[in-house]
Amino acid sequence: MLQELLPIAIEAVASAMSITRAVQHRGTDVASHLKDDRSPVTVADYAAQAIISMTLREAIADPPLQRIVGEEDGADLTRPEQAAVLNAVTIAVQSWRPGVSQSDVLHAIDACNHDATGDCWWTLDPVDGTKGFLRGGQYAIALGLVHNGVVEAGILGCPNLSIDPAKDPAIADRTGCGLLYAAERGKGSWEFPDGDPTATPLRITCPEWSTHKAIRCCASVESHHSNKGQTSTLLDRFTNEKVMVRLDSQTKYAVLARGQADAYLRLPTQNDYRERIWDHAGGMLIAQEAGAVVTDVRGQPLDFTHGSRLEHNRGVIAAASGLHAPLVEGAIAMSIGDGETST
Ligand code: AMP
Ligand code: MG
Repeated sequence: MLQELLPIAIEAVASAMSITRAVQHRGTDVASHLKDDRSPVTVADYAAQAIISMTLREAIADPPLQRIVGEEDGADLTRPEQAAVLNAVTIAVQSWRPGVSQSDVLHAIDACNHDATGDCWWTLDPVDGTKGFLRGGQYAIALGLVHNGVVEAGILGCPNLSIDPAKDPAIADRTGCGLLYAAERGKGSWEFPDGDPTATPLRITCPEWSTHKAIRCCASVESHHSNKGQTSTLLDRFTNEKVMVRLDSQTKYAVLARGQADAYLRLPTQNDYRERIWDHAGGMLIAQEAGAVVTDVRGQPLDFTHGSRLEHNRGVIAAASGLHAPLVEGAIAMSIGDGETST
């Protein structure tokens, strides 16, 4: 089954990537509005969700495999004050497929409203790291296929990540076409250069941790997404040579998977926040299939069986093998995730 689905999903993410890149480069219609939870959403978020929705639903015949739990809600776009945004979204989607109508676009966005029940669905963050997208930084298009609570496939488009591993991934490379990643459970993680789904992919690996190195650790740019003070204290238990790599989105998982960092720490800042499935499914599998280990801060696997949130997990510790276990041990010793409120 996956052999047929994966190429469709890769194609969908690649198409969305080229449109979000064009929107970010144009800069004019990037303008965002705030959703009810005060997070921003842009023309690119909606256009990417529409493109991926159309591609999956047209190419996949089996209705259960057409179900998508997407981050964006089309209802916001039908409000009269959003007419200009809806128009810009339609124009962006038409640059991928001329002739689609506004109602096709709205329908495609709305179709991603599955509630994460049942045994099989995709989960989609059409522009993960929208704040990064708005500041011209890193962002990702993230898609995961979940079957009976297990992530079977992950696809990640990282439009501003340079193929050159010597370049600092915290700095967006807007000169190239970015990188595209795909992983299938049990079959490894693969990188498509130039975001080109027809290019020959390279297998990527996250090497075993060596105690002789400084720790390179990815974390969010936004300070309320991960506790900076605790991150620093936790890393200080192992080394006084740490390099923080701050970037938005699940591109952090890709940076870990390709061995450009040793860890990605997401330590809770709020007692009541639960991570969203679309912020982790795709990226997590890409890191795991490259050899990294991904759990929450207590060492528990991320549990995708409770709707759109990771209800039973707190934060994330993703790291190279050999480093992950001591990081979790340290996090437990520091009681991380047992009721933080600070950043
Ligand atoms: P990042 O770019 O890694 O900082 O993560 C971006 C994601 O963080 C967004 O897609 C949000 O869903 C998510 N987010 C929003 N609020 C929080 C929070 N308080 N803690 C952790 N993640 C959050
Ligand atoms: Mg997101």
